[in-house]
Amino acid sequence: MTLREYRVHGSSEAVVDRVLGLAARLPSMSAPFTAAFGLSRGEGEARIFRYSNDPTWEQFPFPIDQGVLYVFDHTIPARATGGAMEGRASLRALPQEADAVVLCRVWHELLHSVGQPADDMHQRREAWQTLADRLWWAVWPLIFGPGSHDTPYWHARYYAWLTRRAEAGGE
Ligand SMILES: [Zn+2]
Repeated sequence: MTLREYRVHGSSEAVVDRVLGLAARLPSMSAPFTAAFGLSRGEGEARIFRYSNDPTWEQFPFPIDQGVLYVFDHTIPARATGGAMEGRASLRALPQEADAVVLCRVWHELLHSVGQPADDMHQRREAWQTLADRLWWAVWPLIFGPGSHDTPYWHARYYAWLTRRAEAGGE
């Protein structure tokens, strides 16, 4: 079930192409994302506004219209790497960032744009983790070091759960 369709606009054709091609390059990770969110190339220029009085969001390009995902690269000197409002989102994708990192950033912001608590992976562990997840989560820092859970592996697992929750109408 498609939750929402987005027209993808960007600061360059290259960054738009990259984001549109992510799902195809990461099929197993992106399957729940692709089923729920439809991305297509936006026509023309997106209407953008920028806050100037909050340092966190300085220079950050927010789309004005619903149904728009705006993606940008280093040519826009924004401090925040992603943001979302109802039905729209904007985020940075740099060439040196891994596809899985960028896919998870897109997924994160689009979940926010449909009202899901994308920031709460840690707080909601009891709800989304299977028994196997719990065991692996406990062992993870012993292998990868303390504070190492914020990786595409875990983000994708949490976002898949949130996506199913959104599809079921959960707020
Ligand atoms: Zn967030």
